[in-house]
Amino acid sequence: MRLRDIDITSLRSDEVRVRVEATGVCHTDLSWAGGALFPRFPVVLGHETAGLVDAVGADVVGLAPGDRVVIALSQSCGHCRFCERGTPMLCDKSGKGRSRLSLNGQSVHQGFGVGGFAEHLVIEAHSAIKLPDDVPSQVAAVMGCAVSTGLGAVFNVADVEYGTSVLVLGAGAVGLSVVMGARLAGAHDVLVVDPSSERRRHALGLGATRVVADTVALGDERFPFVFEAVGRKETMEFAIAAAERGGAVTLIGAPPPDVEISFNALEFVPSQRRILGCQTGNVRPHVDFPRYFDLYRAGRLPLDALVTSTVPFDDLADGLVRAETLRGLRTVITF
Ligand SMILES: [Zn+2]
Ligand SMILES: [Zn+2]
Repeated sequence: MRLRDIDITSLRSDEVRVRVEATGVCHTDLSWAGGALFPRFPVVLGHETAGLVDAVGADVVGLAPGDRVVIALSQSCGHCRFCERGTPMLCDKSGKGRSRLSLNGQSVHQGFGVGGFAEHLVIEAHSAIKLPDDVPSQVAAVMGCAVSTGLGAVFNVADVEYGTSVLVLGAGAVGLSVVMGARLAGAHDVLVVDPSSERRRHALGLGATRVVADTVALGDERFPFVFEAVGRKETMEFAIAAAERGGAVTLIGAPPPDVEISFNALEFVPSQRRILGCQTGNVRPHVDFPRYFDLYRAGRLPLDALVTSTVPFDDLADGLVRAETLRGLRTVITF
């Protein structure tokens, strides 16, 4: 990885340019950088971003230079059948594939359509959500992926019921956002499994009622709601097995491309369990982000706890190493 001066296109009429203030390091950035996700290089990674609008296209309404914004990953068109039915993360008409970046005339990929490890980015105005003054940029940044994935998994995908019990496998920033969401949804029992004692401590601080280091400790216990936020074959298969009859299993973690999971069909069919895929929590940015802002400001979503270190842009490589070696929860690059 290198810091380079690259070119950024002039704005289309429906786009804004954002001066980046903070970008979180997500595990999928590391997977992409390591070649395990997409063979698309060169690329500007970073997709958990907040910043300041510094230019707007001619047709943009509702945003002006100086506005603080958080970038939404959905980049939805707002009018295809997926958007119309309330699943903007599945939109197939968005500008995800189009990069606005180049180096010496050669196209540079804009990672996840964002490219937040850079001083500026260009994106559709629809994907820049105005940020209240009292939500810090570092906190807003992690809303972009980790928080919307975890909360969205609870509210938009699994639809967790009040008074129920929830099992969360993996206590990184996404798993811990599931924990916060489960408590907000009224779950009375939230059990977290993670081998890291530091992460288990964070889980207890954010509302987990029980924590264990290993799934072995669960014995035959079954749960109505199970969330897998690791992305490994073993934990995904365990998640399916750990759901009770009629239970919902939400698979969130992004596995390597060659992973296949299996389960016994005869056991599964009559159990009426549901296995749910989860893409960034099916976040509906213009509906969900304002709710996150309000919950954060009301003290009911203690997101500051997720940002365990900040690293200045010039030390981006150090930030990636920190995230990769699992020191802390979220490392946020600041500009
Ligand atoms: Zn991410
Ligand atoms: Zn659409």
